Order: sequence, then structure tokens, then C-alpha cells
Amino acid sequence: MSASKSVLPSIDGSLTDELEETEFIGQEPGIDHARIERAVREILLAVGEDPDREGLLQTPARVARMYAELFQGLHEDPSVHLKKFFNEQYDEVVLVRDISFNSTCEHHLLPFMGTAHIGYLPDGKVIGLSKLARVVEIVARRPQVQERMTETIANLLESELQAKGVAVVLEATHTCMTVRGVRKPGSLCVTSAMKGIFRTNLSSRSEIMSLIYTNRR
Ligand SMILES: [Zn+2]
Repeated sequence: MSASKSVLPSIDGSLTDELEETEFIGQEPGIDHARIERAVREILLAVGEDPDREGLLQTPARVARMYAELFQGLHEDPSVHLKKFFNEQYDEVVLVRDISFNSTCEHHLLPFMGTAHIGYLPDGKVIGLSKLARVVEIVARRPQVQERMTETIANLLESELQAKGVAVVLEATHTCMTVRGVRKPGSLCVTSAMKGIFRTNLSSRSEIMSLIYTNRR
């Protein structure tokens, strides 16, 4: 397979030569498609594949577009979706359950996917429900560990809404645990971040947890 390297001209410069470059060439700010393409070609060569065979010819470009999409959130600020709120005298818990998300495990660059449940106890500021999903979407589109993703979402809500309490629970399956390593399909990783009254007051915490887990489909 190594013979293929000489069949077509190799991409100019080795991968290491290019690592110093900081300019971006792709369409999205901060995403360098050409650089990803070179790296993917290197990986294909490194595992003993022939990147110039027909089925793989477009793969580096495809993977570059995929990473641009999966990691778009690195270049977006989720807090912009929390700036527009309504002043409401609603002082009960607001909870949105089962917000589906797909993210990428930063240790293996494999997907983890699941659902987010976000609750908060407003203190005069109420946001549109879809904004919670927007925040999840942006934070998910970064290389992540689930623990940090949970904490990031909770901190965002706490600081932007000045809510009396914020509760974020994430449930996800990690393909790095199902397709490789210990290979345990079906395992679910649950993380939670509690802020304000949900952290300090046990009955408030029990209330929000039962709202999240009652009558699950
Ligand atoms: Zn992993």
C-alpha cells in the first residue's frame, strides 16, 4: 500500500511543516479545512490505507466539513442566546426535558449523544424555551467531556439569568465506551450540576429531580 504514496504527488510539505501555520482557509471562521484534509490523509497513510484509492479520494474533504460542523461551537458564544429575556413575575420552576444533543468526546474524538434536562427557578428573568436548546447545541459542538459540558451550561444560565437556582442533568451514551475499550453498549453516563437553591436546599433539589425523572417515557 505504501507504493501509492508515489503514484500521485503527495500533498506539499509534511504534516509537521504545516503545524506552525495559523491562517485559516475554510469557509467558517477558525476552521482550516485544508489543514484538516492534510491531517486526515496522514492518518489514512499511518494506518496502512491508500488515500488515493477511489473510495477514499473525497474522504479528507468530507471529514474536514464534518469537523467544521461538529466543532462549530468553538467559535460561537452561547451566551448571546440568553441576553434577550422577558420580565415575568413567574416564580415557579421552568424545566425543559429531553433536549437531544450530539457531542464529541475530547479524549477519543468519538461521538457521545444523549439528552439534556435543564431547569431553573427564575428571579424576574425568563427566557424563551428554545434558547435553552440553542445553548445546549452550541456547547455540544465542541470537543468535550460530559462533566464540563454540564457545568458550562449551568454556569451560563446562572450568570446570564441570575436565577435563584439552576439544575442541569445530562444523560449520554459514549461511543468510546461502546465501539472500543471496554465495549459496554447500553451504559448511560449521568452528570448533574446544581446551582443556587438547588444546591443549597435539599427539598428544592428533590423537587427538581423528581420533575426531571417523573413520568419518563
Ligand atoms: Zn472518550
